[in-house]
Amino acid sequence: MQSCHGFLAGLKDASPGTKYKSLVDDHYEWGTCTFKAVFWAFHPCIVEFKNCRPVISIDATHLYGKYKRKLMIAMVTDANNKIYPLTFAVVESESTETWGWFLACIRRYVTSRSKLCVISDRHPGIQVVFKDTNRDFLQTPMTTHRYCLRYVCSNVNSRWNNETLKNLVWRAASATQERKFNATFELIENVNRDAHKYLQDVTNIFECFNGVLKGARSLPITAMVKYTWFKLDTYFDDRRNKSIAQLKLGKRWCKYAFDIFMRNKAKVEHHRVTRLSAQQQSYQVDTPHNLGTAGHGDHTHGVNLLQRTCTCQKWQLYKIPCSHVIAVCIRFRHDAEQYIDQCYSMNALFRSYAPVFSALKDRLSWPDPKETRKVVPNP
Ligand SMILES: [Zn+2]
Repeated sequence: MQSCHGFLAGLKDASPGTKYKSLVDDHYEWGTCTFKAVFWAFHPCIVEFKNCRPVISIDATHLYGKYKRKLMIAMVTDANNKIYPLTFAVVESESTETWGWFLACIRRYVTSRSKLCVISDRHPGIQVVFKDTNRDFLQTPMTTHRYCLRYVCSNVNSRWNNETLKNLVWRAASATQERKFNATFELIENVNRDAHKYLQDVTNIFECFNGVLKGARSLPITAMVKYTWFKLDTYFDDRRNKSIAQLKLGKRWCKYAFDIFMRNKAKVEHHRVTRLSAQQQSYQVDTPHNLGTAGHGDHTHGVNLLQRTCTCQKWQLYKIPCSHVIAVCIRFRHDAEQYIDQCYSMNALFRSYAPVFSALKDRLSWPDPKETRKVVPNP
C-alpha cells in the first residue's frame, strides 16, 4: 500500500490535475494504519468529462486475491456514445459508506456539475446513498435523477406501455447467462425496435465495465493504478487519432448520431408537411398508415423549429432531429443536419480526447506521499 501512495504521488507530480484520495483507519500499533479505500482519477479524464453528457454509470467488480476487495468504477459516454472510465476506487467492501465515499470523491475532485445523472444497477448500498438525505455523502443537488435497471424497466413500460415488452425486459434484466440475455434481447427487437435501441444504449454501458479491466482484477493496487493509467492513455491516443482522421475526411458528425439521423431521414418519404406559421416556424406532420412500423403509422405531430420541439418527443430526448423534423426541413429547404446537437459533433469528440497524459518522472524523483505510516490490510 505504501508504494501505492508513492506511485499516486508520482502521478500527481507529473500531472497536477490528477486526483487521488485514500481512506485509512488509525491503528493501535504506532506507525501503522489500516487500509479502507483508495480513489483515483487522471487529469485528462477529468478535463474530458466537461465535454461529455452529465451522466455517470457506476458499478463494482470483485478483485481476486487474498483480500475480498472491490474495484469501483464510474464510466462516462463520449460524443460518439463510446464509454470510458472516469474514476476508480479500490475498497475493502461494498457498503453504503464506501459507495457514499466514492460518489462524494467524484463530487469533490472530479465534477461540480449540478445536473448529474447517476446510473447504477444493483447494490442496495447505492440506493441508500441516494435515499438517505441525512447522510452527508451527496450535497443536494448532487443528482437530479437516478436510474437503475428497475427504473429502466419502468421507463420502458411507461414509454411503450406493452405487456409483452415489459415481461421481456424483466426477463432480460434478470438473465444470468449471456446467451439467455441475448436471446431475449433479440425477441425485444422483434416486438419493438425503438425499445430495443433504447435498452441497447443503456446495457452497453454495464457490459463494458468488465471488459475494460479484464486482466487487472488480480493485480495488487499499485499495479492496478498503473494498468488503468496505461489503458486510458491508449484509449485517449487511439480515439484522438481516429477523430483527427475523421475531421480530415470532412466528417461533421460522430457516427452514432449520424446513423440515427440517416435512419430517421429514410422514414420521411410519405410524411405530409403543413406549415402553420412561417414566422413561428411551426408545422404539422402527418404520417401515413404503415403496418411495418412499431406504431403502425397514421400519426400527427407538431414541429416547432424555433423551440426545437416535436410532439413525438424524440428530438428533445435524443437531441437528434426525428423524421418529422427532417420532413419539414426537406420541404422548406432548411439544412436538417444543423439541428443535430453540437454534443455529437466531430469537433466535440476531438476536443474530448485532446488532453494528453503526461509522462511520469523516474520513481527516484517522486515526492514523498502524505501518508507515511505503514498501511496494513484489514485483518
Ligand atoms: Zn418527431
